[in-house]
Amino acid sequence: MTFSSQVKNELVKIEYEKNCCKRAFLYGMLIFGKSFSENKISMQTENRQVAEAYSASIKELCNVETQIKSSPSGKIITVSVEKKDCRKVLLYFGHELKATNLKVNYSNFSCEECFGAFFAGAFLVCGTVSSPKKDYHLEFTVAYFNLSRDLFTMLNESELHPKSAKRNGYNIIYFKESETIEDFLYIIGASGAMFDLMNEKIVKDFRNKANRQANCETANIERMVKAVSIQIQAIEKIKSTKGLSYLNDDLKAVAQLRLDNPDASLSELSKMSNPPLSKSGINHRLKRIVETAEGIKK
Ligand SMILES: [Zn+2]
Repeated sequence: MTFSSQVKNELVKIEYEKNCCKRAFLYGMLIFGKSFSENKISMQTENRQVAEAYSASIKELCNVETQIKSSPSGKIITVSVEKKDCRKVLLYFGHELKATNLKVNYSNFSCEECFGAFFAGAFLVCGTVSSPKKDYHLEFTVAYFNLSRDLFTMLNESELHPKSAKRNGYNIIYFKESETIEDFLYIIGASGAMFDLMNEKIVKDFRNKANRQANCETANIERMVKAVSIQIQAIEKIKSTKGLSYLNDDLKAVAQLRLDNPDASLSELSKMSNPPLSKSGINHRLKRIVETAEGIKK
C-alpha cells in the first residue's frame, strides 16, 4: 500500500462528532472533485473506500443518491450525482447555480475543526503524499486557479505555508518540509500516518549518522595505513642505503619497533617501547626518521 492510500484509508474512517465538520469534510471532497456545477457533480479515484465515503456523505447530508462506476480495467472509479440532483447539492452548500468561477464559500465553516475536515476532504479527492522512505512531498492537484488560491490562503491561515506551481495546466499546491507535512497530517486527523512519518524520519536520521560515523572511521583508518606505509618505506630506504646504524640509538629503536609491528597504532607502539615513550614521543621520532630518509639522495 502506498503512503497516500494509508493516509486516505485513515481519513475515511474518521467519525466527525459535529455536523458542521461532517459538512466541511463533504464540501472539501465535492469542491475539489472532478466537477461541481449545476450540470455535473462527480469525482474520480483509484481508492474504493474514498469513492464510498464520497457517496455515503452525499447521501447522509444531502439525501441524494450517487452512481458508482468502475472503468473497464477496474482501476478508476467514478462517482457521480444525477443531473436532476446537482442543484440540491449546490444549494445545500450555498453555491449559486450559474456561478462561472468556482470559489470556496466560507459560510460552510462553523468551528475551528471544520478546516481540518475540509482539508481532509480535499486531500482525499486531489491529494497525494510521497512515502517518507523516499522524500517529503505532499501535494494537491487543483483544476481551477481561483479554487487553488483559496486552498493556498486557507492553508496559510492554518499556519501551514504551502508553495504553488503549475504542472500540465493544473495548479499544484504543495509542501516539501517534513515538519509541515507532519502538522498537516495532524490537522486533517491522520495521526497514525503522522507517527509513521516521524518514525521513518528518526530511522533515516539515525542511518545517516551511522553512515557518517562509518565514513569517518574509514577515513581515519586510511590515513593511518598511509602514514605507516610512508614510515616503513623510509626505514627500508635507510636500511638499504646507509644501514639502520645511520640513525642515532633513539631513532633506531623506534625504527626497529615499527618494522617489527607494521599494524600497530601509535598508542600500541608507545606501550611496547622500552624505555617507555609517549604516543607523541613515538610520533615525533617516526617523523624524524621519515625526514632523514627524505634527506638521503638515491
Ligand atoms: Zn465544525
